Amino acid sequence: MLMILLLHWVNKESINETLDIFEMYGKASGSKTNMSKSEIMCIGKAEINVLEIQQIGLKYSKDCIQVLDKCYVEPDAHQYWLESFNVQYVPFKFSWTSVHCYWKSPDCLQLDFKIVHNRIFTNLKLKRIGLSNSDICDSCNSVVEDLFHIFLNCHDLDVFHNYVFEFLRELLEKCKIDILVNQGYRQMFLSGITSNYIDVNTYFVNFVLSVERLCIFKRRQMIKNDVKNIDLIRFFKYTLKHYISYYHVYCKITKKMNIFERNFLKNNSKMIEMDGVLIFNF
Ligand SMILES: [Zn+2]
Repeated sequence: MLMILLLHWVNKESINETLDIFEMYGKASGSKTNMSKSEIMCIGKAEINVLEIQQIGLKYSKDCIQVLDKCYVEPDAHQYWLESFNVQYVPFKFSWTSVHCYWKSPDCLQLDFKIVHNRIFTNLKLKRIGLSNSDICDSCNSVVEDLFHIFLNCHDLDVFHNYVFEFLRELLEKCKIDILVNQGYRQMFLSGITSNYIDVNTYFVNFVLSVERLCIFKRRQMIKNDVKNIDLIRFFKYTLKHYISYYHVYCKITKKMNIFERNFLKNNSKMIEMDGVLIFNF
């Protein structure tokens, strides 16, 4: 088991305290800890609120905070999202869980990782670093292309977003809480569901959202390569069915249908399995 001790690193002296703790832990557990000082830096003092302690799973002790299986350094992009959504708090744990959830295609995982880190090379960024002469969207040719424009604001995506909204509404219809209003469509589209709800297949909703983002981004890349007139809704339906069918076969072969049932079929009005065959309602 990996154990990491995160101290209140407020000055250089506290690094030595950290190393002492590592040494004590090594003696007590018999484990070997990487004690390279170059990898331990003073990262300043931070307050951790009660909600974060519960959600991240931190435990306070007298001199240190024990973090089991996690070493948490907040990405810079968190501030970007707080400002972009104009909120004080976002439960980022859910965003990262959604990014790294298993059985997502590598394409989806890589794209989601870049989105949550705000590391997509938009035309705005490409122009800033001198790799493009224009920062205008290649699809609508009228507005500066930033991250929100690529995935949400471009008017050429309006029809697709209407379709996605309806798709999500059907997936979430059993839930007593109006999640689309509660969390907001825009935030949910970019970050996934940021809470657990009864009667909602969170895994599948996040899986769908991830494929939707991938299809938008692939369309954008195709337009850059002069492939126009892409039917995005059709492309999305095909891609989603393709990935689901792949995992369906995989689960059959590896005898993991209980997991497939939980992740893809439970609380899902958009697909059923009949006599071993998937029937899609989209
Ligand atoms: Zn546009």
